[in-house]
Amino acid sequence: MEQNEGRIFPVEYALEMILIFDRTGAVSYMNAVARKKLGYEGDYCDRKIGDIFPNAFKDVLDDNAAQNLFETEPQNLVAYRKNLTCFPVEAKLVRSEIEPTIYICMANDILEKEFLSREIEQVRQEAQQAMKVKSEFVANVTHELRTPVNGVLGNVLELLDSVTDAKTVKSLRLIERCCGDMNKIINNILDFSKLEAGKFVLEPNRFHFRNMLDYVKSHHTNKITEKGLGFFMTVSPQIPEYVIGDELRIVQILNNLLSNALKFTSVGKITLEVVRTARVNDKIELFFIIKDTGIGIDKADKDKLFQSFSQVDASISRKYGGTGLGLNICKQLVELMGGKIEVESEKNKGSTFSFSIWTGISKEDENTLTQTEDTRPSLTLSSSADEEEGEIDSVRIYGTAENLENLNRNLSKLILCVEMENWEKAEMFMETIRQLTEGAPREVSRAILRLKMAIQKENYEKASAGFEELNKLITC
Ligand code: ADP
Repeated sequence: MEQNEGRIFPVEYALEMILIFDRTGAVSYMNAVARKKLGYEGDYCDRKIGDIFPNAFKDVLDDNAAQNLFETEPQNLVAYRKNLTCFPVEAKLVRSEIEPTIYICMANDILEKEFLSREIEQVRQEAQQAMKVKSEFVANVTHELRTPVNGVLGNVLELLDSVTDAKTVKSLRLIERCCGDMNKIINNILDFSKLEAGKFVLEPNRFHFRNMLDYVKSHHTNKITEKGLGFFMTVSPQIPEYVIGDELRIVQILNNLLSNALKFTSVGKITLEVVRTARVNDKIELFFIIKDTGIGIDKADKDKLFQSFSQVDASISRKYGGTGLGLNICKQLVELMGGKIEVESEKNKGSTFSFSIWTGISKEDENTLTQTEDTRPSLTLSSSADEEEGEIDSVRIYGTAENLENLNRNLSKLILCVEMENWEKAEMFMETIRQLTEGAPREVSRAILRLKMAIQKENYEKASAGFEELNKLITC
């Protein structure tokens, strides 16, 4: 048989048992696995297939029945070893096409297979249990964190009602803002862990679409004013007044994308556009585009954006803060709503985030389509925020009319902040002014540096003097 074993080389090393026998049932070959499992070495020549699988394949061996048979269905059998102990197998029979009198039996040890699938099931259950424990832990910790944060917030708000001293009010406002930021992080972690555990459930309701957008807009108005940016919103008339969807979560996605757009833009404008792109029965697809003229994102970093805990680089997280969870949550929410989120961006040329979602529409609401498209800029906080890309670029070129106009506006806001000793906001305007004066003569850059340092040190006298100097240089 050694000769046979060499000749049938590929099956010799197969992972399952392979036995070859003829029409009389005489076994002519067993591969390595079969020999090992059945306890033979080379001594199986006198064996019949019936010795190994009693009562099996009888009908197949019968000439007439086997006429048209080339392959049987897998069946459960008992395999007998040489020492007459046995074990269950799953086996199937194939008749050789070249030599129809030759049969090939392939068999797998079921116990081994079952053992493996039990092992896999156990590992799966353990992983599930670990995931459950982790989600519960995150839910408990975030809940425990939320209670003290809200406790602090409540007391701060109460104190703010009674305190009048400006310095104390300033400190309390800072604590209030920190508590708000903490709550945002806690909510993000909670959402993230629920989404990861597959426990997140959308809660659709019928809501007024434009009112929702107005609410989102109002949420960002102060920041837009502070930064002197333009904000434009366009809503297609093809979208009915009311739609059915999870309003809270749509607001969450929009808030996140708009906050990012605001965070990373110091000059120019932000636009939000919503159009209807498809309709299938009582569902419509809405497409949102959020465009900014901010710092942009490097090509190489774009793919990382939607991963959890991902920020483009460490310097960005140091400068702008954040956990890197926002976009991942947006992606998961958008996907739950049957859509897709994408980004188009180039370093220093702004970013465009777009996403689609499916919402429901009821029969009665179909007739509420607005007649005219609302393309008015709903919040023009900066006249520099022109629609033309070219004009946005000229804002950035030091010395152009748009650039100087923008600079003057930001300088006026800056001096107001210095007068009020609102150093945090003053720093923000300082950064915008710095960007608007890129490429300016050296004396301007130096004056900017001096003013910036005075603001950072919260030195009123030096900041006022620095402002006078810079203002003269720019307006001369
Ligand atoms: P976080 O929750 O910390 O804000 P996000 O997931 O929302 O994190 O954003 C991750 C990173 O993506 C940001 O730290 C920033 O590097 C980049 N990013 C997001 N939006 C913009 C944008 N509009 N312009 C430039 N970079 C952006």
